[in-house]
Amino acid sequence: MNGRPLLNRRLEGLGTTIFAEMSALAAATGAINLGQGFPDTDGPESVREAAVRALRDGRGNQYPPGPGVPELRQAIVGHQRRFYGLEFDPDTEVLVTAGATEAIAAAMLALLEPGDEVIAFEPFYDSYAACVAMAGGVRVPLTLHAPDFRPDLDRLRDLVTPRTRVLLLNSPHNPTGTVLTRDELTAIAELAVERDLIVVTDEVYEHLTFDGARHTPLITLPGMRDRTVSISSAGKTFSFTGWKVGWVTGSPALVAAVRTAKQFLTYVASGPFQYAVAEALALPDTYYTAFRDDLQTKRDLLADGLTAAGFEVYRPQGTYFITTDIAPLGETDALVFCRALPERCGVVAVPNSVFYDDPVAGRTQVRFAFCKREDVLRAALERLMIRL
Ligand code: PMP
Ligand code: GLN
Repeated sequence: MNGRPLLNRRLEGLGTTIFAEMSALAAATGAINLGQGFPDTDGPESVREAAVRALRDGRGNQYPPGPGVPELRQAIVGHQRRFYGLEFDPDTEVLVTAGATEAIAAAMLALLEPGDEVIAFEPFYDSYAACVAMAGGVRVPLTLHAPDFRPDLDRLRDLVTPRTRVLLLNSPHNPTGTVLTRDELTAIAELAVERDLIVVTDEVYEHLTFDGARHTPLITLPGMRDRTVSISSAGKTFSFTGWKVGWVTGSPALVAAVRTAKQFLTYVASGPFQYAVAEALALPDTYYTAFRDDLQTKRDLLADGLTAAGFEVYRPQGTYFITTDIAPLGETDALVFCRALPERCGVVAVPNSVFYDDPVAGRTQVRFAFCKREDVLRAALERLMIRL
């Protein structure tokens, strides 16, 4: 093989995702896993039953239609109308994907030519770096700085060049919990229109917002209807991260572009689960409110406990993650700290430093997930209090 590396240059250095590394460490040590973001309580019983029914009735056991089963596409349309007053055509403006992960990958592969620039917030969800790289694009980071983690919109304007093709936005933002305000979204929309940019919005935490903060999809803003690819997923909203049901909504031209790439990735996925997610999306408003309220209580429990344990805590407005700073504990390296934490305290967390290009910016930031039972959160806090 001529000594040439087996892995192509685009993927060089991407290694194993930090989530897999940290969950493996949790499994190996028996530590409490507040690292990878997945709930320890499954979603609603009625939705699980709907999946079982679909499986038993032979719905979705064979290849579902490429764009997704009609029931789910209708339900996505209904959800966008109910929560945001948006109207989409289920046949041309909705695409079901294998989680938001595939939607992001397909969007990048569909929209980018090699050398195109993609501006994305930093810290960034790790698949962004991989997907932009696989598509041959160049990721340009807009760093969100502690303690507020708000985007510097003047800086954003400066980062746009003639090569900029896509803004890849994530709000509510993993890992900082920032929820973009209407003013910030308005400024971003104006810039996108002025510079003729496509915006891909990762909205998987759309319903996980606290203290009265609410998610506004960028696509609702003037000029954005035909230049936004909106992405979401059932994983977070309904606590079924293993089902991998995600979706894209947008103009017929953008959805067709993403579908073209998507059909050669998985073709289709999650047949019976698609029917169950259709039922989940139709759950009454009370489901969504109760889920959010429960998470807010857990956020407060974990945030207060981490503060008491000596961390600097950045209380999030959204998502189920809390970003902290370990400098007050006398620590200087998040990755070293997180690799040692299971042995030291019996707790797993994720180093935010791996979500930055700039090695200095996030060097002492550590993320904890609070989508866990309260007794689990309390047990983790007790360990941190005693052993740190
Ligand atoms: N985007 C963000 C910001 C995420 O945190 C996640 C979490 N897994 C995803 C996308 C992927 O979602 P899915 O599990 O639906 O692929
Ligand atoms: N989104 C989840 C997180 O941020 C994990 C997803 C994954 O493991 N790929 O922890």
